Amino acid sequence: MFDITKLLRPHLQQINSYSSARDEYTGKVGIFLDANENTITTNSFNRYPDPHQHVVKTLIAGIKEVTIDNVFLGNGSDEAIDLLIRAFCEPKNNHSDNQSDYILLMPPTYGMYEVSANINNIAIISVNLTSDFQLDLDNIFKNINANTKMIFICSPNNPSGNLLKREDINLILEKFSGIVVIDEAYADFSSETSFINELEKYPNLVILQTLSKAWGLANLRLGMAFASKEIIRILNKIKPPYNINGITQQLVAESLTQEKQKNEMVKQIIFQRNILEEKLKNINFITNIYPSDANFLLVKMDNAQEIFDKLLLEKIIVRNRTKVILCDNCLRITIGTQEENEKLLLALQSFQR
Ligand SMILES: *Cc1c(COP(=O)(O)O)cnc(C)c1O
Repeated sequence: MFDITKLLRPHLQQINSYSSARDEYTGKVGIFLDANENTITTNSFNRYPDPHQHVVKTLIAGIKEVTIDNVFLGNGSDEAIDLLIRAFCEPKNNHSDNQSDYILLMPPTYGMYEVSANINNIAIISVNLTSDFQLDLDNIFKNINANTKMIFICSPNNPSGNLLKREDINLILEKFSGIVVIDEAYADFSSETSFINELEKYPNLVILQTLSKAWGLANLRLGMAFASKEIIRILNKIKPPYNINGITQQLVAESLTQEKQKNEMVKQIIFQRNILEEKLKNINFITNIYPSDANFLLVKMDNAQEIFDKLLLEKIIVRNRTKVILCDNCLRITIGTQEENEKLLLALQSFQR
């Protein structure tokens, strides 16, 4: 049923990837006169970084218990999202009325899927989540057509914060013969096990994770995609050769030895989330706090726009989601430090009438 060569865009079937100077010789010691670098500078940034990110990938593969052939690294998960669409979705041919391929999205969800599809001129079919932010399976299956190449599922979902039901996701993985991308950017904060464990079962599965949230490394820009060797090979073939810079590779390699500290931070953030959730319940204009498996809370209130503006005057910046489908009058609040959360609560209390 699933046939990767049929899914890949035809012109990519026999394309050659860029062969970098450093592909010819893998030794570390030598006189390197192959890449037109500045050889006389004494700064330590004059050499191109490892295009295959071997050290970082080996560490990540170890932590995630997969082989390095199952790991793709991107300049943020956002790069992986773009490359996935570029690999498998054929855009409209503007010289005729040809319909493009489709991706299927389930709003409200992370905005980059739509942005990347739009940049690549790929059509979108949207099937809203249900009112409790779960997958609407009947409508999803009704809306899949022959040109639907990819489905993006975000779990825990941004901006709602909840996990999507595992059995629903499994059903899509089983019945849909295109690529299923599960974005687990917030997986570290949830009790559910990662879909990485299902990679051998589902050849159409791609999992996205990132170092930007729980690991606290958003500035370094490192996103991860986990998939079959065949899919990873395609992503590696079309990526820019030096997409992960050397500083990032070095600092990430150091940080990945600190998994314990990461888990400790996750515990603290969840602890603070539970406190904030309890205290928000006492604010009289707040009407709903949605259950969260992430490091943020989606909060519904009377007149979210007014509260958002008042918070801004206090220099407290939250994410206004009130114009997003199913998020009418909702603000998305990242869990801050204890001190930050207390200041937020004081401000909200002062807005009560
Ligand atoms: C924050 C976030 C990302 C992160 O993207 P990076 O480019 O890796 O920083 C990806 N997906 C979702 C749903 C997010 O909320």
